[in-house]
Amino acid sequence: MIKKLISKLFTPRAARPILSVRRHAPQRVPQSKHGIDRRLVSRHAIKVCDVLHEHGYQAYIVGGAVRDLIVGAQPKDFDVATDATPEQVQALFRRARIIGRRFRLVHVVFGQEIIETSTFRASSSDEQTTDEHGRILRDNVFGTLEEDAARRDFTLNALYYDPATEIVIDYHNGVADLKKKVISIIGDPAKRYREDPVRMLRGIRFAAKLGFTIAPATLAPIRDMAHLIENVPASRLFDEMLKMLTCGHAMDCLRRLRAEGLHKGLLPLLDVVLDQPDGERFVELALERTDMRVRSGKSVSPSFLFAALLWQQVNQRWQQYRAAGELPIPALGMAVDSVLDDQTEKLAIQRRFVSDMREIWFMQPRFERRQSKAAWRMLEQPRFRAACDFLQLRAAAGEVDAQLAQWWMDLADANDAKRAAMLDELARQPRASGEGSGRKRRRRSGRSRAGGGTEGGATPVAG
Ligand code: ATP
Ligand code: MG
Repeated sequence: MIKKLISKLFTPRAARPILSVRRHAPQRVPQSKHGIDRRLVSRHAIKVCDVLHEHGYQAYIVGGAVRDLIVGAQPKDFDVATDATPEQVQALFRRARIIGRRFRLVHVVFGQEIIETSTFRASSSDEQTTDEHGRILRDNVFGTLEEDAARRDFTLNALYYDPATEIVIDYHNGVADLKKKVISIIGDPAKRYREDPVRMLRGIRFAAKLGFTIAPATLAPIRDMAHLIENVPASRLFDEMLKMLTCGHAMDCLRRLRAEGLHKGLLPLLDVVLDQPDGERFVELALERTDMRVRSGKSVSPSFLFAALLWQQVNQRWQQYRAAGELPIPALGMAVDSVLDDQTEKLAIQRRFVSDMREIWFMQPRFERRQSKAAWRMLEQPRFRAACDFLQLRAAAGEVDAQLAQWWMDLADANDAKRAAMLDELARQPRASGEGSGRKRRRRSGRSRAGGGTEGGATPVAG
């Protein structure tokens, strides 16, 4: 009781809902209406709420988790919103750290699971810093539950689930929109997109992921405002792009982006890719496979994805450099550099991903050589598996021989004894053209080994 009183006294003014003037009462949606199965809620998120409640604070599970639970999807993670300040939250948990600069929040850690706990935030415009386009640069003012709901993006993302009472607090008709399968932005759409253009991308992503429609008023301003994406920092765009590509409905996301004119600022080359019949096929295949993996709960590698999205450009430029007389490997290097240069200006692909992408690409010509020594060396490469998967994709797109791709896949899946047997068997076979260890043959035919990789044999790429 005393603890409660003390904590109340020390709660900052703005975070004390008692003092705020309610503009409209929220709906309090009972379990029978929202249907959330409490057994599917993270026990750690419940624990965070319980502890905060015990100390006299408000605490709700909020955001994507509530949305996903209501539509019967598995939440990715659980966030909690509270009227306790970050310091007050941190003081209540053994393993909790305050993070964030733009807005400080607390990570409460339970083994593998992190419950992101943030203090109700206001979005009163006079306290915000915006850039010349109206984009919010800082909004770190604590607020009430109602204010916190109003600054969220879509009605279905502004739901607050109290695990103690199993009631959902709903200020913006989010539960009804979820049942109607509609994405609807909170407040004036144009203003909300100006404040944060990424909301346009998020709307498209949620529509694709959930199979929902976007409400006409929410959709209407997007075409005209699409160019605002250009002002968003590249690292944020990268994060959002990654979310779209790994949401399990990537192709649908890209189609919708293109329909709204939103793809241009994201992957400047995407438009070109999708306009080439071959390019579209390749990207489509890559994304179909990714979607399948995501939907069956498997992980996907961002480097693999971006390597696939940009492969058509790399491949095209590679052929151009080769036609201009460069040797295969240097030509590939030049192609890779020029594509990455164009790309990273807009979308900051993180460095660690870029180096993996390079490895995946540079291993492609090496799959043409199956002599024992080269094959064992390939198997030792850290990115071998991803490169081999990439080869399967190229085979599916008709770019390389399907049997060659299958052989490498079998080799990858085999144990060492089986691998040795496969390589022996191959050595006994009459050699496919260009696959010789045939230094001699090559010398005789006067070919140079320089560049080592794609010499002879089937051209790994359609020219
Ligand atoms: P998912 O995690 O599945 O991508 P999410 O809705 O949980 O979806 P997060 O980015 O984790 O998305 O954000 C959590 C919550 O924060 C959202 O549900 C929303 O209420 C709010 N939010 C996130 N980004 C914005 C934004 N750009 N503008 C306003 N509110 C936002
Ligand atoms: Mg989330």
